[in-house]
Amino acid sequence: MDETHNPDLKSWIEVNSDSHFPIQNLPFGVFRPISGGDLHVCTIIGDFVIDLSILDSNGFFSNSNLQDTLVFDEPTLNAFMSLGRASWKETRLILSNLFSEDNSELRDSKIRGDVLFHISDVEMVLPVDVGDYTDFYSSKEHATNVGKMFRGEENALMPNWLHLPVAYHGRSSSIVVSGTDIKRPSGQMLTKDSTPSFGSSNRLDFELEMGALVGPGNTLGNTISTQEAENHIFGLVLVNDWSARDIQKWEYQPLGPFLGKSFATSISPWVITLEALEPFRCSGPKQDPKPLPYLNTSGKNSYDINLEVSLQTANSDNTDVICNTNFKHLYWSMTQQLAHHTVNGCNLRTGDLLASGTISGPSSDSYGSLLELSWNGTKPINLSNNEKRTFLDDYDSISITGWCQNDSYRVGFGAVSGQITPSDE
Ligand code: CA
Repeated sequence: MDETHNPDLKSWIEVNSDSHFPIQNLPFGVFRPISGGDLHVCTIIGDFVIDLSILDSNGFFSNSNLQDTLVFDEPTLNAFMSLGRASWKETRLILSNLFSEDNSELRDSKIRGDVLFHISDVEMVLPVDVGDYTDFYSSKEHATNVGKMFRGEENALMPNWLHLPVAYHGRSSSIVVSGTDIKRPSGQMLTKDSTPSFGSSNRLDFELEMGALVGPGNTLGNTISTQEAENHIFGLVLVNDWSARDIQKWEYQPLGPFLGKSFATSISPWVITLEALEPFRCSGPKQDPKPLPYLNTSGKNSYDINLEVSLQTANSDNTDVICNTNFKHLYWSMTQQLAHHTVNGCNLRTGDLLASGTISGPSSDSYGSLLELSWNGTKPINLSNNEKRTFLDDYDSISITGWCQNDSYRVGFGAVSGQITPSDE
């Protein structure tokens, strides 16, 4: 850790104690002013979005490796992400110095108003051009719960699960930014009398996940080891991997999920860097049996990130928290996922998204999907306005948030939200 993690560091921009964005966070995103203008790369402190492109054109990144790269004058983070960890760290250090409370260079400058935008005056867009999207299945609790429901207690975990991070290739074209409406999908499913039928999904669900975004990739035929993996991860976002359980159940054998998943995946607009998460590093679950050598890791490979899911129905002014869990419950770490993904020589590219899979904790209030919370629809959830839910109704909204907390500050992810709209059927 370095001076950017100093718990006593304060910004000249006011930051409430429960803000997700103190000067120690400095996440990256892409925005445009609501009043109009081009998309630019930005960061945020408190409630103020900071235009890095305007900072760059005014010389605040001169004499750094960022000079003349123009990576902030881009509609996505990809160019910046491809530069690698040294450039990400240098940017963080420059921003941390510029916005610390005793630095008057920008604070008292006449261009300050061109650089800072109140969060209510901007539109945040999908921050990354995602080329390939891989969805893992790395929560032992989630895999066990789903296995129990569909295969019984005895065969809950498949024989490969404890030996490799199971995954499938998802669909990147339907990745959307937080706030995008999610239309209820239609598809083929089995009716109660076991005949196939077509209609709108009656078992629409969310999945609480986190995603790692790839910075520099690897060339075809080469691998990334667990030791090198963190240099290839730009940062993390919140992910809601919307799922139609009835479509999924009928289609998934033998090649895995397809249309039950590919209709939409929502991500949060702010990418939180591994650098910002460093103070919250912790150990993941003990792995038994010991993984094969190429999946070996040492030290602390997880992060202590509180995760919360809330649901609001069309008829309610209240939101109900329906899940509390933590990223640290994930059995397979991001570094193991990356090493496994490339061990056959598959090339990852800048902007690829590696989602964790549904993150469920050990207790029944820490399950990361309605499939588990309602135990396959057999135990409806009671909401504070006396409505019940097994799966999502039209106009229900789901919001997922996440944050790390220490004695001095909170490093948060903001939120990923979405509302269900009716199908065409
Ligand atoms: Ca998933």
